[in-house]
Amino acid sequence: MILHIDKTTDSQKIQQLADAYEAITIIRDDLIVLVTPSRFKSVDEAHKPWVKEAFVFDTDIQIASSKYLAQKRSVKIGNNLIGGLSRNVLLAIGPCSIESEEQIQKTASLLKELGLSTLRAGSFKPRTSPYTFQGMGTAGLKLLDKIRSQYGFNIITEVRDSTHVDEIIEFADVIQIGAKSMYDHGILRKCGKTNKPVLLKRGFGTNLQEFVQASEFILSGGNENVILCERGIRTFETKTRFTLDLCGAAYLKENTNLPVILDPSHAMGYAYGVPDLARACMAMDIEGLLIEVHPNPAVAMSDASQQLDHDQFRTLYQSLKLIAQAVNRNII
Ligand code: PEP
Ligand code: MN
Repeated sequence: MILHIDKTTDSQKIQQLADAYEAITIIRDDLIVLVTPSRFKSVDEAHKPWVKEAFVFDTDIQIASSKYLAQKRSVKIGNNLIGGLSRNVLLAIGPCSIESEEQIQKTASLLKELGLSTLRAGSFKPRTSPYTFQGMGTAGLKLLDKIRSQYGFNIITEVRDSTHVDEIIEFADVIQIGAKSMYDHGILRKCGKTNKPVLLKRGFGTNLQEFVQASEFILSGGNENVILCERGIRTFETKTRFTLDLCGAAYLKENTNLPVILDPSHAMGYAYGVPDLARACMAMDIEGLLIEVHPNPAVAMSDASQQLDHDQFRTLYQSLKLIAQAVNRNII
C-alpha cells in the first residue's frame, strides 16, 4: 500500500504511522509517502485523518505500478526528456567498452553527424571471465567526461560493483546497472539515494516481477528517475545469445509507469540480426533503444560479434527515422 501523508504532519506522527504499517518513508517536496508491504490492504479508522490518499496493490510492484501513476514518469537526461508527455525516443549508442581516446572520438563524430544526444559506453565492464578485458576504469570515465564537455553529449556508463558507485554517479548523466548487477542491493540502494537517472537492465534469468521489484529498491530510496531496459533473457535457445522478450516489453509498458528501453544488441549477440530487431523495437513505441556501435567491431575488446560498424548504423538510422515517424516519436 502507498499512503500519501500531508507534508505538515509532525515527524512523530509520521514515525508512528510508518511503524504501524512497516513502511519505508520517502520525503518528497510536496508530500510524505509511506510505502508498506503490499499485504497491507486498508488504513485503520484511527489513522485516516492523517492519510490523504491510499493506494492498494496486489504485489510489491507499487511505486513503479501504473495503478499508482497512470501516466508514464518523465526522466530528464541532460536537456532532454523521455517519458511523461514527451514523444521522445532515445537512441543510446556507442561501443560496448570505451577502449581508447581515438575510438571514442570516432564514436562522438558519428553521434554529431547524426544529431544524436547520448553516448553510451562502459568503462567498468562486468565480464563473464576474469581473464578478459575488464574496461578502462577511471581513465575511461575521464575520457568520457572530456567527450561530454567537448560535444555536450549525455553520457550513459555502467556501474559494475559497489567500489566505484560514487565515481559513476559523479561522471555519468545516466547510471547503467547491468544485467549481472541487477540484484546488487548495495548498488540499487546507493542509486536510490541520488537523483541521477538510472538505466536498470533486466537480469537474464529474472522474471518481470523480480525485475520491477529491483526498480522498487531505487524508487523507494527516493530516486524517481528509473528507466527499465529489456536486454534479452536466457531460454532453451542457443543459436542466438539471448531471447529478446518483447512480450515482457509490452507487459512493462502496460503495467508500470517507468520509461522502457530495449536493447537488441545484447539479446541477439550477432550484428546481422540487430537492424531488424532494432526496427521491431522502435515499432513497439517505447522510450528508447540501446544499440552497440563500434568504429571497427572486428577488433572490439568486448562484445565484438554484436556491434554494428558506423556504416551499418547509418543505414539502420535511416529506417529507424521512418518507423519513429510512424509511431509518432521524435528521435533524440
Ligand atoms: C552492456 O550493456 O554492455 C552489458 C554488459 O550489458 P548487460 O548488462 O545487459 O549484459
Ligand atoms: Mn556490451
